[in-house]
Order: sequence, then C-alpha cells, then structure tokens
Amino acid sequence: MATADGFALPELPYALNALEPHMSARTLELHHGKHHKAYVDRANELARGTPVHGLPLEEAVVTARKHGVGPLFNYIAQIYNHNLFWQSMTPEGGQPPRQGALLDAIRATFGNVDAFRQQFIKAGLGQFGSGWVWLVSHQGQLEIVAAGNAETPLTDGKTPLLVCDLWEHAYYLDVQNRREEFLMRWIDQLAHWAGAEKRLRATPPR
Ligand code: MN
Repeated sequence: MATADGFALPELPYALNALEPHMSARTLELHHGKHHKAYVDRANELARGTPVHGLPLEEAVVTARKHGVGPLFNYIAQIYNHNLFWQSMTPEGGQPPRQGALLDAIRATFGNVDAFRQQFIKAGLGQFGSGWVWLVSHQGQLEIVAAGNAETPLTDGKTPLLVCDLWEHAYYLDVQNRREEFLMRWIDQLAHWAGAEKRLRATPPR
C-alpha cells in the first residue's frame, strides 16, 4: 500500500478488544498504534529519494531487499509483515478448513492439520530472538518458514498465506515469556484460515 504521501498505516480489520481474551486490547493498541506506526513513519523517512519511493508495498519490499538488509529494507518489510499479521487473525479464528484447496495442500505437505499445527508451533519456538513464522505457498507446495527480524519469504518469490509475529511485543503483556502458549493460542483461537485459503486461491499458477 503506497499513496502519494508514501506508505500508510492500515486500519485494523477488527476492534481493539475483538481478539480478547486470546490477545488483549492493550497489546493490539500498542502493537498497531505504536510499533507498526513507527515502522511506517520511519520507512517513509528512509524511502524519500530512493528507488523504492512511490512503489507499491510488495514491490518496495523486494526492491529494498535487492539493495541489502539494512534499515530501509527492515522498516519497509515490517510494514508488509504487520499488514499480513493483522489479516492473519480474526475473532472467529482457529477453524481449519474442512474441505477445499488449502486442506488438500496441508494434507499433501504435512499429512493433516494437527501435524501442521505441531510443526508451525515448533518452528515458531525454534526461531531464536525476534522474527516471524509463516505458512507459505511455493511452486505448488506449502512450507513453514521461520525467519529473523524483518525477513519475509516474499523476497524468495514465495506467497505468504499466514504469518505470526514472534517479536516479544506481540505477546509479552499477555503471556510474558511463554512463547509456546502464545503460539498455541494464536493457531487455535486466532488464525484466519479463510484468509489463508483466499490467498492460496489467488496465487498465480507456476
Ligand atoms: Mn510486531
């Protein structure tokens, strides 16, 4: 998302308290209104006068990455990652598909939804320090990708379907250091499976 004024902070797709009790209004308020907003503001400052200025967000992420991992990439990628993070959750979350393309793909790759769930949680726990854990589609296959800091599988030509934020600011107020509890709550109560299905169907055939 880019406008004449640069990158924008999107509205959350639900009320601040809509994800309670699994994610508190206070966490969402700070995460969206302070952390995400700070990424947007800083990215706009850094992008001024560079080749990414005025590009659509996804293109800006990929272009910035080609110039290396530095502040410009980090701040722009964090905008993209957070945009998808909000879209990856819903108050009616945690309801895996019972039929359709996404379920077929999960079965083909992981065996079943529970096996996917376990691998996703394990990957999120195994990511040392700050970062993200993703479900992506790549060349007709699903993959779980965990990556540090602002890294995003978009730069590897993969299609992100779901993402969970592993930075402590995503969960510390709610569950303190218990990242495993956060990941379980996230996948069981908040994950927006219908959104993932929509993104999978929108993936161009390769
Ligand atoms: Mn975050």
